[in-house]
Amino acid sequence: MSDSVYIHIPFCKSKCKYCSFVSFTNGDKIPGYIDSLLEEIHHCYKDEPLKTLYFGGGTPSLIDIESLKKIINKFKFKDGCEVTLELNPDDAEPDYLSGLKDIGINRLSIGAQSFNNRILKLIGRRHNSEDTVKAVNMAKKAGFDNISLDLIYGLPEQTMEVLKIDIENILNLDIQHISTYGLKIEEESYWGHHKPSNLPDNDIQADMYEGVNNILEKNGFNRYEISNFSKKGYESGHNLNYWNNEEYYGFGVAAHGYIDGVRYSNYQTLDEYLNNKSKREQEHTLSKQEKIEEEIFLGFRKEEGVNVGKFYSKYNFDFEKEFSPVLEKYKDFIIKTPLGYKLNLQGVLLSNNILSEFLM
Ligand code: SF4
Repeated sequence: MSDSVYIHIPFCKSKCKYCSFVSFTNGDKIPGYIDSLLEEIHHCYKDEPLKTLYFGGGTPSLIDIESLKKIINKFKFKDGCEVTLELNPDDAEPDYLSGLKDIGINRLSIGAQSFNNRILKLIGRRHNSEDTVKAVNMAKKAGFDNISLDLIYGLPEQTMEVLKIDIENILNLDIQHISTYGLKIEEESYWGHHKPSNLPDNDIQADMYEGVNNILEKNGFNRYEISNFSKKGYESGHNLNYWNNEEYYGFGVAAHGYIDGVRYSNYQTLDEYLNNKSKREQEHTLSKQEKIEEEIFLGFRKEEGVNVGKFYSKYNFDFEKEFSPVLEKYKDFIIKTPLGYKLNLQGVLLSNNILSEFLM
């Protein structure tokens, strides 16, 4: 049982060079895919009223309004349900945006990535910075008042100065939420086989993270999770559901879900997904230890941190007693909060090392 749903739309017009997400460029398969998705929802969803619904990709804004409406109509909703759709700036058109609003999408996550047109071209994006500005303004005109932009730092040829201009551009757009990602070259991406030159090194990437953090916090954005900043009241409810280690449905090719203590992942290729009645390729029932470890990792991602009382009530587990040597070892990086513990900014930069010590 869950009141949160992720839907994966695995189609893109072309492939960005850094991208390792499951996405395909054969758009002719979209109609069959939508049918298969509707079937999967019909078989798995148990009519729980939703508090969040998220269309991610891929490029969900490649899907026409009628098809999105058919999917949305499969669900029941709680009052105030957050319904997000990821939008590519080059898909923004006034009619499409009004259509999204009409069918109940109330939050847009726009893939800006950078405002430097040379870098956008280099990374294989189809849009330019003017498209992003237009998309945000059109979305506002269509009535959207909850807009998030994605920004990548650590890109080839990106300097601190270039990144500062990106952030200035974002701040000028007066939006509510920003997700920032440090570039990681994944093996499955184009760049995994053709490594780009002029990449900022790890130290510069860490400085960039600190720089982004400082500028955004000075400008009224709260870092409520390692990579996510929002104005008060505009945190992503859908992503908080993940970080709070709550359960959720995942529908679509390569989607992951977590229902009734079982983590599952769907088939990774379109053909396997389309041709299998059962869409799940793998299922794994979590042990108590795995649940505790996941909750620690996810908890430390949040500004709110790990909630010690919740560990006790949920798992009968004394976090402080169990981890007192680790908490002592990293006392310069882990801060005590009224409810538990969180990482400070330096701790976030060292989080891989620190969190590995919380494995049981
Ligand atoms: S980064 Fe996004 S838009 Fe680009 S190919 Fe990957 S999923 Fe598609």
